This record gives sequence, C-alpha cells and structure tokens, in this order.
Amino acid sequence: MPELPEVETIARDLRGLVVGATITDGRFDWPRTIAGVPPGEFAGWVAGRRIESVGRRAKFVLLELSGELALTIQLKMTGQVFVTRADAPLDRHVRVVLDLADGRQLRFRDMRKFGRVGVYRREAGGRLVPPSMSVGDLFGRHGPEPLADEFTLRAFRTRLRRRKGRLKSLLLDQSFLAGVGNISADEALWQARLHPLRRAESLRSSDEARLYRAIRSVLAEAIERRGSSVDDYTAPDGDGTMQERLAVYQRTGLPCLRDGHPIRRIILGGRSTHFCSWCQRLPARDRAGAEAILRAGRVAERTAMCRAGATRKAAATRRRGARWSELPAGEGIVGRPPSRPPPAPGAS
Ligand SMILES: [Zn+2]
Repeated sequence: MPELPEVETIARDLRGLVVGATITDGRFDWPRTIAGVPPGEFAGWVAGRRIESVGRRAKFVLLELSGELALTIQLKMTGQVFVTRADAPLDRHVRVVLDLADGRQLRFRDMRKFGRVGVYRREAGGRLVPPSMSVGDLFGRHGPEPLADEFTLRAFRTRLRRRKGRLKSLLLDQSFLAGVGNISADEALWQARLHPLRRAESLRSSDEARLYRAIRSVLAEAIERRGSSVDDYTAPDGDGTMQERLAVYQRTGLPCLRDGHPIRRIILGGRSTHFCSWCQRLPARDRAGAEAILRAGRVAERTAMCRAGATRKAAATRRRGARWSELPAGEGIVGRPPSRPPPAPGAS
C-alpha cells in the first residue's frame, strides 16, 4: 500500500503535468470511489475548475482547485494515477476520468476499488470539509507530517510521552504521525535499533532521538528514490527504487545488514512486521504479553521462509502486471506540456 514517500512522489510528478490545466468534465464507473460529495454531483463540482497546485497530506494526493475546492486522491491498496491523451484506450480498472481542456485526461485506476477520489471545500483555516456541510474535517484526526520543519525532536518527544503501547502499532497510528506505513515503520525501527514490540513508555531520551532521526531519514531517502515499488505502486513518471534499499521489509530469513542474523517476521495487529532480534533487543520489562505474539510469529515465519523465494518471484510478476508502461498502446503518460519546466526537486 503506498505510504508517505510513494504518495509524495505521485504528487510531485502530477504537479509537473497538470498544474494550470482546467478540468472540463468528470465521470466515474464505481460510485463508491467518490467521496465528499454525492456521486451524482461529482461532475458539477469539478467541471470548469483550474488545478492551482498539487500537494500531499498524510497518504492523500491533494489537487487544489480554483474556487477553494480540493480534489483528494486516496490510493489505498491498488490505486494508480495516470495522465493520458483522451483517445488512449480505457482499461476496465479505470474508476474516475477527469477531462482536461488541453485534450488530456487524468485517470484514476484501481483494481481493488478501495481507493477514493473526493471533493472537499478548503476553509479559511485550512480545514477540508465536504462542500455541502459545515462540519467535519478530513484531516481532523491526523497527526503531524513527520517531514515538516515544525515537526522537531521536541515536538516528537511531547507527542510520544503522551502515548502508551508498542512502537510498531504506534507508528502505524495515523493520529500519531501522518503517512507512516508498514514499510517505513519497520525500516525506521531497524535503523533506530528498537524492537517493534518495545513500549513507547519505556524509551529513554536517546532512544527517542534515534527513532525521530530514523523516521525522518527513512522517509526522506524513500522520497528521493521515488518510493518503494512493491505491489501495485507506480507514479506518473515511473517506478521507485527504494525497494532495493530496504533493510528488513520482506527480507524474512535473510541476514541483517548490520550483524548477519536472520531477519524475523511476526504478525502484529494483522500486519507483517520485520525485525532483527539481535540488534533490536526487547528489554525484559517489555516482554510481558510479547511472548505470545513472538511465538505465533515463529509459525508464520517458517511458512514465510519456505515460500520466500517463490514469493519474491511472484511479487515481482504481480507488480509488473499493473504497470502503466505495459498497458495497451497509448495508455501511459503524455509528457509534460512543453512550456512547463520540470518540477524542482524538493518543491512542495
Ligand atoms: Zn541485526
């Protein structure tokens, strides 16, 4: 599932392609994809709006439209965004099409249909609310952006010390930090040498500082590498390469890059969790209740290791299946308008 780095990459690619374009019409083939407004009103809300800017908040791509509206794209499991010529063939997984005045289309493709395209009103205070209501804030429950300047070590400590519970679950909690997902959480914990079952309340000050730096560096590097192209993730300008740099994620049984001990995998809150039990020690005081999770993990691990080779091969095949570059002719990106310079790296 795309996380902060992947969504940020898509937003940056889109920025170079659609800022300044005007939407002339919109349609969908699956009403539940539409959020924020009744599906029947979707076209009415977006037609005639100019795309002013493209950004990201949490795991949402945000297209700011003229008239204080925002179009949100939530990719969930299999969502993909393309900009194509209007005459490029449609495939059956395209859920939403936005016609642009310059003859192109912005298409949202989503095989599993969990993704959402929403229309919200941007209020003066910055909140995003459904246009026909005066209550509700799309990001009201989301925590801060971990890469924002104002997210300092001090701010992180303050938030952390208000929370209890195991680190992996806490990092996945979007009300704690926005955008961190399974890959970033496992990688950050490995980098900080903290066990995923470690309790937040048992961290020393130096642990907090290492975790803070690890979260930021894992996310920043992943953005630089255009995200991890696992499963169905791709961005308008192509795949990412972060998957080649991951230390623990989907490396069950392979040697830890620090000490050579095998990477272990457990299931925590329904999500697979990867770590090295040698350099990510679980202190004795955090072991209460962890034994059962670790025991269950050993069973899952053996299964995972037996299938590891085959799974990696299958994963590579699976993710190739959904690549825009391999879709029928014409279904791909049509380069950025010639008048527009490429987006500056790091621009937001
Ligand atoms: Zn290790």
